[in-house]
Amino acid sequence: MSSHDESRFAAEVYGARLERAAELARNAHLDALLCTPGSDLQFLIGSRAQSFERLTCLVVPASGETPSVVIPKMELAQLKGSAAGELGLQVVDWVDGVDPYRLVRNVLNAGARVAVTEVMPALHLLPIADQFGSLPVSATPLLRELRMRKDPSEIEALRRAGAAIDRVHARMGEFLRPGRTEAEVGADIAAALVEEGHTEAEFVIVGSGPHGADPHHMVSARVIEPDDVVVIDIGGPVEPGYFSDSTRTYVLGEPSAEVAEQFSVLERAQAAAVAAVRPGVTAESIDAAARDVLAAAGLADYFVHRTGHGIGLSVHEEPYIVSGNDIALQQGMAFSIEPGIYFPGQWGARIEDIVIVTEDGRESVNNRPHGLTRL
Ligand code: ZN
Ligand code: ZN
Repeated sequence: MSSHDESRFAAEVYGARLERAAELARNAHLDALLCTPGSDLQFLIGSRAQSFERLTCLVVPASGETPSVVIPKMELAQLKGSAAGELGLQVVDWVDGVDPYRLVRNVLNAGARVAVTEVMPALHLLPIADQFGSLPVSATPLLRELRMRKDPSEIEALRRAGAAIDRVHARMGEFLRPGRTEAEVGADIAAALVEEGHTEAEFVIVGSGPHGADPHHMVSARVIEPDDVVVIDIGGPVEPGYFSDSTRTYVLGEPSAEVAEQFSVLERAQAAAVAAVRPGVTAESIDAAARDVLAAAGLADYFVHRTGHGIGLSVHEEPYIVSGNDIALQQGMAFSIEPGIYFPGQWGARIEDIVIVTEDGRESVNNRPHGLTRL
């Protein structure tokens, strides 16, 4: 067998996923599933192909026939690292001047009902809709079960990612000091992510002082001041492509009594949500567990986002831990628990762990201290 590196699982893993995806498409009375590059494609065949204006598309017939990959001849190298060869997938290559959408239709039939990965660009979606004479449906509901419940090798990958980001947080004292800009600190943290085992830094948030009150702040030229509270939310992929995502809040110097008190409520809220995780409870009940603690202390209005998001081959995926999501948690689901409190113009704080639902509870892959860490 051709050897493969740690960038993907063994070919059989993808073979089983493709079979299951075809079966799910069949059950949904669809004729095929179409995936352009993105996390669905990576999930199904272990391909890291990138999306360009030239069409690359995996076609998984619901019939169970061998899937095909329609791909530009000049980009065939993108399939090399994937399981496509070992699985014996049909490769339909094309050169400029050929209509690749017609090639997709030729694999199936005119009038076939297809589901498409939801990251398919409109640039490809619209000509595909044209070929089949109807707007495709989203593949996300089909693949949801498969992607949400992580198998043991995926869980192992998430544990490695969690340990890697914990090692970066453990080194925060090397980077975070008054007098440095957020951007300088962020650049050092990004390098540390790679040093500790990530393939790259996907996001680095250094929210110092008032910037901590903006949950989506990244970094800026702001110079960090003594006594600042600083939100550090960082993550990136670890081979074979599973993401870390962890937030801790640091304080330089002494926190005020009010900051310490409000942070301690946040810490209790995050712990309560983690403790509530077990199979059978709803996603929204986990959100409520965090929110109720904050509400009891009069802080509900300062928690302005959902409690968490699923994670795996993408940073944000299902299940979303949010009010209105009554999906029951199942063993193998992995998601963040990240309540925060944000005081515009003043300061903010967030605590985030990735947890995995176990047979009778939960496992956290992030295990750094949760308190307001003094540096
Ligand atoms: Zn995060
Ligand atoms: Zn997150």
